[in-house]
Amino acid sequence: MIIARTSPPDGNSLTTRADMISLRPMTKASTPFMAAALDQARQAQDAGEVPVGAAIVDSRTGEILAAAHNHTETDADPTAHAEMLVLRAAAARLGVPRLPDCDLYVTLEPCPMCAQAISFARIRRLYFGASDPKGGGVEHGPRIFDQPTCHHAPEIYGGIGEAEASRLLKEFFSARR
Ligand SMILES: [Zn+2]
Repeated sequence: MIIARTSPPDGNSLTTRADMISLRPMTKASTPFMAAALDQARQAQDAGEVPVGAAIVDSRTGEILAAAHNHTETDADPTAHAEMLVLRAAAARLGVPRLPDCDLYVTLEPCPMCAQAISFARIRRLYFGASDPKGGGVEHGPRIFDQPTCHHAPEIYGGIGEAEASRLLKEFFSARR
């Protein structure tokens, strides 16, 4: 399992600049797709849903197969997390039960349910934004991909688009208080 984290740029040290340069290929490739996930998160906020968005990309073509945000309130469905929705939509669109050539972008660390579904779907790479110490299941809690019962772990890249993803979540929860 690979966990790569981008560090927030401080713009001062040469080391940081060098790190940014070395991260550029991955960041560049992932930015438009995480932007699509963040756009979904903003739509979730407008819909009164927890602002989490996801997009799933066919790595062979670079096409976004599906993008969605949380729908648990709208659909009265406890499983309608953004990741579950894009996995279902992408699999239905390709007519296959597993997505080994696909990459999933999500603005928040997936919960244990979604992490397990990502494993079942054989997702190639997982890119996520903010960490979720309270509800996450990748770097926190049950760490689904590290378990012996987990038979496929994607490559994992955390901290992509983290600042914007965190800001949306903080705004949402502070408005609810
Ligand atoms: Zn989830």
